[in-house]
Amino acid sequence: MKVYFLTTGFGSVPKGLFVRGAGWGKVRFPILSVLIERDHDLVLYDTGIGSRIKEEMHPPICRGNQFFYSKIMRTVFDPRHDALVHQLPRLGFHPSDVTTIIISHLHWDHAGGMRDFSHARFIVSRKEWEFAVQLKGMALFKNAFIKEQFLEAGLDIQLIDMDSSSSRKNVPASRDLLGDGSMLLMELPGHSPGLMGLLLTMPSGRRFLFSADTFYFPEGLERKTPKPALMRAMVHEGPEAEASIEKVYTLMKSEPNLEIVGSHDYRIPGRYELAPTFYT
Ligand SMILES: [Zn+2]
Repeated sequence: MKVYFLTTGFGSVPKGLFVRGAGWGKVRFPILSVLIERDHDLVLYDTGIGSRIKEEMHPPICRGNQFFYSKIMRTVFDPRHDALVHQLPRLGFHPSDVTTIIISHLHWDHAGGMRDFSHARFIVSRKEWEFAVQLKGMALFKNAFIKEQFLEAGLDIQLIDMDSSSSRKNVPASRDLLGDGSMLLMELPGHSPGLMGLLLTMPSGRRFLFSADTFYFPEGLERKTPKPALMRAMVHEGPEAEASIEKVYTLMKSEPNLEIVGSHDYRIPGRYELAPTFYT
């Protein structure tokens, strides 16, 4: 098994916008997707920003998202080069080799590439899906969803319920995706109602927790600091967010070798190199 870190472009923000009290120095951060190469197939965790971002953000109703993307996050992203569907061939993979895609949550910077992989099976939390699909109009963009990315697109969506009977030490509600314990989906609600982290155990024994946007920057986890009020309001972050940070914090303390990777951790690349480098 190999793990590759990929980013669909980079954003840059003053640190304090993403972590309460972190100062106003600027940091450049990834929009992370994780590619897991198994014996016979490829699994993705998140699709990042996709090749159709310009048309998706064109309707006037998306102006708020567009503003966030271009002016606040100051995203540098070239759809013809940085979309995963164009990155994979440069790594020697065909996009159709991706069989399963876990969507951590349906925000536009995580679900943006779904239509670029229309052959794949998508794993989405039922809670996330049912929340997102009932929203209409302005409520969608206020929650950072762009419906066209995941709905009305004929995609093969498998909705996942968490299984509380599968609880194990420090991982309360989860779902064993493959039945062998190697890929455990972990419920981390708050940033969005059905956010799912991925607890990956490699054959080497190395363990990663991909925690998406439970925290943005590492200081948010280490100090258990909620995101600034402005950020929380912007994406309608719910009150469960703090309990989810606590859950990840407890795991971090109980398992010092667990590598916890947020989707916008500014230490990537650095802590990890991006693909073609891989980890086993
Ligand atoms: Zn995000």
